[in-house]
Amino acid sequence: MTKLPSGKSLIFKVAIPVPVYRLFDYLAQENIELDNVKPGVRLEVPFGLGKKIGFLLEIAEQSELDTGKLKRVIRILDHKPLLSAKDLRLLLWASSYYHHPVGEVISTAFPAALRQGKSIVVQSEKRYALTDLGKATDSGQLKRAPKQKSVLEKFQCSSCLSEAELSVWNDNWRPAVKQLIARQLLQIELNDAKANNPEALLRNNVLQCNLQQQSAIDAVCNSLGQFEVFLLEGVTGSGKTEVYLQIIRSVLERGQQVLVLVPEITLTPQLEDRFRQRFAVNIALSHSKLTDTQRQISWLRMQQGECSILLGTRSALFTPLKNPGLIILDEEHDASFKQQEGFRFSARDVAVVRGKLLHIPVLLGSATPSLESLHNVDKRRYRLLHLPERAGNAIEPVLQLMDIRNKRMQEGLSEALIEEMHGTLARNEQVLLFLNRRGFAPTLICHGCGWVARCHRCDANLVIHFDEERLRCHHCGKEHQLIHQCPACKAGQLTPLGLGTERVEKVLAELFEDRVTVRLDRDSTQRKGSLENYLQQINQGKVDIILGTQMLAKGHHFPNVTLVAILDVDSGLFSIDFHAAEKLAQMIMQVSGRAGRADKPGKVIMQTRQPEHPLLLTLINESYRSFAKSALAERKEALLPPFSHQALLRVQAADINTPMLFLKSVTALAQELNRGHTQVLGPVSAPMAKRAGLYRYQLLFQNTRRQELHVFLDALMPAIVKLKHAKVRWSLDVDPVDLY
Ligand code: ADP
Ligand code: ZN
Ligand code: ZN
Repeated sequence: MTKLPSGKSLIFKVAIPVPVYRLFDYLAQENIELDNVKPGVRLEVPFGLGKKIGFLLEIAEQSELDTGKLKRVIRILDHKPLLSAKDLRLLLWASSYYHHPVGEVISTAFPAALRQGKSIVVQSEKRYALTDLGKATDSGQLKRAPKQKSVLEKFQCSSCLSEAELSVWNDNWRPAVKQLIARQLLQIELNDAKANNPEALLRNNVLQCNLQQQSAIDAVCNSLGQFEVFLLEGVTGSGKTEVYLQIIRSVLERGQQVLVLVPEITLTPQLEDRFRQRFAVNIALSHSKLTDTQRQISWLRMQQGECSILLGTRSALFTPLKNPGLIILDEEHDASFKQQEGFRFSARDVAVVRGKLLHIPVLLGSATPSLESLHNVDKRRYRLLHLPERAGNAIEPVLQLMDIRNKRMQEGLSEALIEEMHGTLARNEQVLLFLNRRGFAPTLICHGCGWVARCHRCDANLVIHFDEERLRCHHCGKEHQLIHQCPACKAGQLTPLGLGTERVEKVLAELFEDRVTVRLDRDSTQRKGSLENYLQQINQGKVDIILGTQMLAKGHHFPNVTLVAILDVDSGLFSIDFHAAEKLAQMIMQVSGRAGRADKPGKVIMQTRQPEHPLLLTLINESYRSFAKSALAERKEALLPPFSHQALLRVQAADINTPMLFLKSVTALAQELNRGHTQVLGPVSAPMAKRAGLYRYQLLFQNTRRQELHVFLDALMPAIVKLKHAKVRWSLDVDPVDLY
């Protein structure tokens, strides 16, 4: 047992979740047994006038500070670190790569309760499963008990669900579950810790894979146990998920765990259902719709090896894994993998580093891979696995442009489109309309004097929400009563300008009176469980027309949709951010992927006033790949990422002059510290110059050599911290995906 040499006090270097770049020194407790104190354990320490939870990073003999003035650690919370040494290394790397304070980075790896210093308690949850009778029962028999019917249907596609999972699905599940147990259709699942024995893993038979799927599966399975990054490129419906499932099976057979990340919470239930149908292992979930307790349970069950699969969003990336075997990132191109506030990490890029540290493969999947990943394939850093065709007998949809110049339009719908819709509906097939703008209309303007309803706090117009009689700012959330008289001239008529989903919904109700329309956007799906309900209605064929925002673009399977229309594709064509073209092309392909998934061919119509636009023509006549190729060539020409590397310093303040003054000091510092060839571009005002009452400016750093950029930032950041500008807030975004 190691004891402290008497008379000498050891120093603990502690990371504390505060916006400060350095570690804090504390005196170790007296009589401490060092055998039990490893880097990574949580500590309670005095901080300022209060206390904080920090993370021990180093034990040192000396401090650069006067040891007489150091405070003593209050207590050590963990017998051994909850994170592995490799995961701790990952976090330290991420802190230095993203130039974000290390204490804040480490604390993001923990669930809220552990972050606050609570001790670990593993609660086990009750889980429910169908009985044999439940499996055989037709849910139609429960017509008169709709609640029970929908619970039974939920179980029939997921087999086994925990209390937490049920709560995420629907707040009020308990009475129905109780009644189903009384009817002997459901039972409490007793033994949920499944042995990892291969026969017990599978619930149902696997599909016979096609050649391309098989070679993708073989490639990844051959590299289990070592690091390699794979990019699985395959159009929607090409069977990527099936490939994941079969690879996961091999990982599970090795007794290892799989981390699966998806961009959005709305995608987890579908994937979860497929996993549960296939595997009889414990599956944990982690995303922001779960309560803190539920997330902590998932975290601990993965850490202790009780669950074999973790399905989650971006923040689940740091969950500790007892036996890591594989990381999968589905829809890897999606911008939601980049955190846009606080610790601005890219879950994709950090996942790759994590795979490298853990010596496990990383599988990135997408129908429309990011330009960065395709570039990494070109550079032979990633290995490309390609699924060129739709699996089974589904046929790829036909894309076509619909020129709407000078055409008569009814609230955004051309007559030709309306006719197409009638034709599709007459065949008892479904129509999907995509419009990436919620609300009734994006602008309220006075027909008499030109007055426009603007947000006082933002550089933006207020959006009309007709149903709720509101004007709402989509940037700061500020709301006003919808007005009916022009505040400027008191006479002119107030007119809604432009198109939002609410407005299209209204015209659909008139044009397609006897049809059922469902609107899916952030407003219509705010209530818990409402999205799931809508999706269920759609899949049961109770809906004819599905109208929605980007929520629709991702992952959902609508087998009976054969006509997809993008109502306003032009709005994406003119942006000043160089990422915009890539995002638009991905969005078009993703939305198109919703059409004709089963045995019926699909058609995709894009309404445009730019029928000659090269981006649209390339996508239609060639492919996403051709688009990507020419977009990469343009980026190379302009030395934009991935041919250079960027970091964006954003600054905001309540006063209009302060951000610019601050950025001028930063520019001066940058010139002084710039030893390499980092370009300093700006300062300029942000594309949205004011937001939530704050004025925004930015400065962009760019270098073709990543290493050189980071050496520069390493020198610059501590110097910026020392600039005394009390009234500005600033943040650094390394590899920004959005220049706004
Ligand atoms: P993706 O994830 O690329 O969109 P999925 O894995 O969801 O594709 O597959 C699309 C559909 O095709 C699913 O219904 C799936 O069950 C089916 N499918 C996948 N692979 C095969 C196969 N080899 N044979 C027959 N059907 C398949
Ligand atoms: Zn007016
Ligand atoms: Zn606002």
